[in-house]
Amino acid sequence: MFDPTPAVLRAVDGVSLTLDRGRTLGLVGESGCGKSTLARMVVGLLPPSAGQVLLDGRVFAGAGADGGASGGATAPAISRAEAAQLVQMVFQDPFSSLNPRRTVGASIGEALAVAGMPGAERRARVADMLQLVGLRPEHADRYPHEFSGGQRQRVAVARALITHPALVVCDEPVSSLDASVQAQVLNLLRDLQERMGLAYLFISHDLGVVGHMSDHVAVMYLGKVVEEAPRDVLFAAPAHPYTRALLASVPVRDPARRAEHPALSGDLPSPIAPPSGCPFHPRCPQVMDVCRSVPPGWHAVAEGQHARCHLHAPESSPADSGAAG
Ligand code: SF4
Repeated sequence: MFDPTPAVLRAVDGVSLTLDRGRTLGLVGESGCGKSTLARMVVGLLPPSAGQVLLDGRVFAGAGADGGASGGATAPAISRAEAAQLVQMVFQDPFSSLNPRRTVGASIGEALAVAGMPGAERRARVADMLQLVGLRPEHADRYPHEFSGGQRQRVAVARALITHPALVVCDEPVSSLDASVQAQVLNLLRDLQERMGLAYLFISHDLGVVGHMSDHVAVMYLGKVVEEAPRDVLFAAPAHPYTRALLASVPVRDPARRAEHPALSGDLPSPIAPPSGCPFHPRCPQVMDVCRSVPPGWHAVAEGQHARCHLHAPESSPADSGAAG
C-alpha cells in the first residue's frame, strides 16, 4: 500500500566537530556516508536545517549566518564577502571544477577580481600563487585541458588559496589522481599548510590518506560521527568496530597486523531507512542484542578519543540511548 508520509533523509545528523588553526581534521567514511554533504555545509554551499558553523566564534553558516534570523544564536555573523575570503574548498575533480573556457589565470584570480583588486596587482598575485603550488607564472595563460590531472589539482589549490583563507575544505582532493601524483599533491598541501598556517578539513574514503594528512580523525557512518580521536590513537587503538573494519582496508606491510581487524562486509544501508538501534549493527562483527534496538551514546574511551558504541558504555548504563555526541 502507498504510504503518503514523506521519507526523511538525514544525510548529516547531530555532527559536532572542532578544528584549530593550522591543524588538519580528517573526516573518513564510505561513499554515501554524508562526508560531502557535511563539506558543503561547512563552506556554506548547503544550508543546514539546524545548527551552525562557527569560525573564530562567529557564525559562518546555518542559523544566524549573514545577519539572518539567529534562531536563538547570540554569536555575531561573518559577512558574505569575508566568508568567501576565509573559507575555501578544493574539490575531487579539478577538471569539472575549473571553467574550460577561462584561462587558469582568470580562474585563480576570479575572487580577487570580485573583491575589486586592480588587474596588474591581481596578475602578480596569481603569478606568485602559481609558483607557490609548483607551476610557472606563464601557465596563467593556458586553459585547463592543457594540464595533466595533477597540474590541474595544483591550479585548483592555487585558486582556493589566492584569498589567503583560514580554512580549506579538501573533499577527496586526490582520489581522482594516480598514486604517484597523489603523494605529490598531498605533500604540496602539507607544505602550504605550514607556510600559510592553514586549517584543513580533509575528507576522504581512504583512511590511509586521511592518516597521512591529519592531526585528528573523525569517522563517519550514515550521517553520524561514530569515532573521533587523535590520529595516532585512532590508528593504534581504534575503538569502534567500523573504524577497525576501515583499518583492515589500509595497506600495511605486516600481514599479521592486517589480520588484526576483520574486513568490512555488506553494503552501506540506505540513509532514508537506516537500521534501528545502532545503524552499523547489520554489519558489525561484535553486535549484541542491545545494538539492534538501542542507539548507542557517545562515550569517552581514552584521552581525546570518543566512540558511539555500546561496547564503550560505562558498565552501569548498558542502555545508553540518551547520550549526545
Ligand atoms: Fe557494533 Fe553494537 Fe557497537 Fe554498533 S553499538 S558498533 S552494533 S557493538
